Amino acid sequence: MADFKTHIATSSVVGAGYGIAGYALLGAPSTCVLSAGLCGLAGTLPDLDSDSGVPVRETMTFASAVVPMLMIDRFQTMGWSHETIVLAGGILYFGVRFGVGALIKRYTVHRGMWHSLPAAAIFGLLAFLICSCDDMTLRLFKTGAVVLGFMVHLILDELWAVDLKKLRLKKSFGTAMKLWGNNRWGNVSVYAKLGFLVLFAIGDPIMMERIGIDDHGVPHVARELLVPPSTDAPSTTRVDNRGETTGTPFDPWDAIPTFKR
Ligand SMILES: [Zn+2]
Repeated sequence: MADFKTHIATSSVVGAGYGIAGYALLGAPSTCVLSAGLCGLAGTLPDLDSDSGVPVRETMTFASAVVPMLMIDRFQTMGWSHETIVLAGGILYFGVRFGVGALIKRYTVHRGMWHSLPAAAIFGLLAFLICSCDDMTLRLFKTGAVVLGFMVHLILDELWAVDLKKLRLKKSFGTAMKLWGNNRWGNVSVYAKLGFLVLFAIGDPIMMERIGIDDHGVPHVARELLVPPSTDAPSTTRVDNRGETTGTPFDPWDAIPTFKR
């Protein structure tokens, strides 16, 4: 398998290309620089399952600092005060740094389901939930950066499993880009997490607001379709203006000129 340096170098180069392409298409320089960094970091995530010391610890430390900063937007949307945001950031830092790190170490096996396509989707959904912002395009762009970095790692691991000198596939071939592994419990666990995160992402209040579902759970679109407009209030627009307002009061007789005469 590729080592830590190869992984972070490759995902950083790919991330830089992703950022440049994003800047050309979308503008938003700060989002593009952040996405390039996220892609580079995501390229190290699958190997968090290997208990191999310093690189893993560095990734975890960096992630624990980045995650609270990425969540500031969400906290502000939730109307939290400055002090509460600082407190939440501190709790998140220690939670990710020590809590998540310990859980990964305890419950993962190297090249288990942490190296898999559903795991890439899980990290994408986590990024989607963490990187909340009003602009859905920029949010999806950051999500894409994490999935891309993760996928670059999986692809590199598979490429490293091809022995070009002896023209044969190593035993590890197929253990990175897989949909499921040999451990049934590992498969159930990863797909259950994926399912939960999909539900979380669908129920995300910011996303709900975006697609037009208010606090009462009634979609605006559905309401517009089902509730007929009030006939009591006089209309201020002409019937034939195709959605644009003319500014002149609507006279119904104008619509039927022959009867007016
Ligand atoms: Zn790996």
